[in-house]
Amino acid sequence: MKQVTRSRRAFAEARKVLAGGVNSPVRAFKAVGGTPLFIESARGARITDVDGNSYVDYVGSWGPLIAGHAPAPVVRAVAEAARRGTSYGAPTELETALAREVCRAFPAIERVRLVNSGTEAAMSAVRLARGVTRRDRIVKFDGGYHGHADSMLVRAGSGALTFGVPTSPGVPAALAELTFTLPYNDLRAVRELCERHGGEIAAVIVEPVAGNMGVVPPAPGFLEGLREVTRRHGILLIFDEVITGFRVAYGGAQALYKVRPDLTVLGKIIGGGLPVGAYGGPERIMGQLAPDGPVYQAGTLSGNPLAMSAGLAMLAILRKAGTYAALERKADALARGLLVAANAAGVPVTLNRVGSMMTLFFAERPVTDCASANHSDTQRYARFFRGMLDRWIYLPPAQFEAFFVSTAHTYGEIERTVRAAHQVLAEIAKA
Ligand code: PMP
Repeated sequence: MKQVTRSRRAFAEARKVLAGGVNSPVRAFKAVGGTPLFIESARGARITDVDGNSYVDYVGSWGPLIAGHAPAPVVRAVAEAARRGTSYGAPTELETALAREVCRAFPAIERVRLVNSGTEAAMSAVRLARGVTRRDRIVKFDGGYHGHADSMLVRAGSGALTFGVPTSPGVPAALAELTFTLPYNDLRAVRELCERHGGEIAAVIVEPVAGNMGVVPPAPGFLEGLREVTRRHGILLIFDEVITGFRVAYGGAQALYKVRPDLTVLGKIIGGGLPVGAYGGPERIMGQLAPDGPVYQAGTLSGNPLAMSAGLAMLAILRKAGTYAALERKADALARGLLVAANAAGVPVTLNRVGSMMTLFFAERPVTDCASANHSDTQRYARFFRGMLDRWIYLPPAQFEAFFVSTAHTYGEIERTVRAAHQVLAEIAKA
């Protein structure tokens, strides 16, 4: 039987000095119950907690670890970089090299600005869009997550066309009012809003494959429609590819769906798991950033040499022939296995998957937006999570998150996962 004595103690100690005991809320396991695992180490697809339990990991640091934990070339690159100094606050050629690779992968990006997190990248992209268009309003989608900048912590007010309201105390209502929130995949709502307010809207920001209400693929024509409507109204289209960039394809969701946004937001993947974010687009927009232009944005640690070195090594791994085909095959095997297990147990589920990101929703009907995702039985998910954890499978500790498959997952580990799912789902059916 699994022991989590040390994790329990570690959490109690953490709570004495860290707000809530964690540095990002989802880590506290509130949605699933139980003790958050404190991690000792990880390698490949395995993560080991401080009690010595080893799990097959489908969290993958929330997405960036497409090649699994601690791939040798990334570790080597970081170690070598550290010997040459950890931060200079002055430019390096490493930044140019990483930016060049991002531009090569994303034809929509001519110039990049590197930052330290997805939050910072999305926040800065929105500021740039506002600065360039001289408009203040933005549009996001219900259930979309773009980091925790004030303008993004907003949900729809009552009535489809009312202004947004804060989802967190501390976000000024006056700012939240500038953010419209619409249902994902609802092009008609976007068209109607733009007919009324198009001239006031700086940007539409969207996850081209939603990953933060669980995985929800774009409906056919949704992204193309966004492209057309935004162009017509002089609105900038921002794809937040923090999760999808270099994951659903090397060139991200924009390569997969062949829709070119004005600005692209990238995150942790391009740092190989180190703290990085980036945003980029055509020179005519990016040229408006300081120092060449008037829109201000800066960062002491931006373009940090350790993160750049890790990112370059990571992207080199991903460029190897067969990476995405291998991810697809492994993720497909897992998805099929989970569906067979759910069917065998008679537990109704909906599985959404795009490439190596997927969510098993405990929902009977298709999940196409936040409202349909919310029909999921989150208690069942919590039970599933805990049952899998007891069988040494580490899934995301919340229903509305993605499982991430890496190239490091072996078919043996995937089979083990599916076997565990058969047992847990059978138990759930009986409960
Ligand atoms: N955008 C998306 C689509 C994300 O999934 C996330 C977080 N996973 C962010 C932005 C924020 O990134 P970070 O946590 O690095 O600030």
